[in-house]
Amino acid sequence: MATLERHIRYEAELDPSFAREIIASSGSPSLMECIQCGTCSSTCPLSSYMDYTPRRIIAMVREGFKQEVLRSSTIWLCASCYACTVECPKEIPITDIMYALKRYAVREGIHRWRFAIPLMARLFYETVRRNGRLTESWTVLKLYLQAYPLQIPAMVPMGWKLLFRGRFPLLPERIRGRLGLQRVLRAAKE
Ligand code: SF4
Ligand code: SF4
Repeated sequence: MATLERHIRYEAELDPSFAREIIASSGSPSLMECIQCGTCSSTCPLSSYMDYTPRRIIAMVREGFKQEVLRSSTIWLCASCYACTVECPKEIPITDIMYALKRYAVREGIHRWRFAIPLMARLFYETVRRNGRLTESWTVLKLYLQAYPLQIPAMVPMGWKLLFRGRFPLLPERIRGRLGLQRVLRAAKE
C-alpha cells in the first residue's frame, strides 16, 4: 500500500485550488468538514484493494495533493456503491467526490501509466462519440495496444476463433445522424 509519508513534499508544490475545483464539480462543500473518523474506509468493500483509503483521499484532496490523488487507483476502483456516503457522520457525498475526481482525471489526462480503467473510459467515450456505437473488437484491440501490448500475442488464438465465428467485426459499426449525436455531446460538455 502506498503511504502518504512517501509523497510528502514542500507546501509550495501542493495545489490549494484543487479542493475548490472538486467541491465545485461535485457540489459538496461539506468536503472541508471531514473529521477523519475513518467510517468511510471501514465501510468501503474495496478499500483493502485501494492504494489510498477513501478517508485518505478526502484528506489529500483537502490538502492539495492533486497529482497523488489523480494517479491513485482508488478513484478507479470505487464501485459507486454509496456505502461510504450513507454512513458518513458529516454527510459528505464521498461517491460524488470520486466521480468528480474521475472526470477531472479524464479531462486532464492524468492517471497511472497504462492503467486500464481510465483508458477504457476514454476509448469508450471516443468510439461512441465518433460512431454512435461501440465496436467491442476495435475497442478491446486499442485497449490492449495501450495497456497490455505484451499480452497481445497470447490473445491471438482467441481473436481468430472470435473472428471465424463472426464475433469480432472488422468494420466499425456506425449509426446514422452521427453529427447530431456529436452536437449533443458537445453541448453536454459545455
Ligand atoms: S466518514 Fe466522512 S467524516 Fe469520516 S473520514 Fe470519511 S469522509 Fe471524513
Ligand atoms: S462508493 Fe466507492 S469509495 Fe464509497 S464505499 Fe463504495 S466503493 Fe468505497
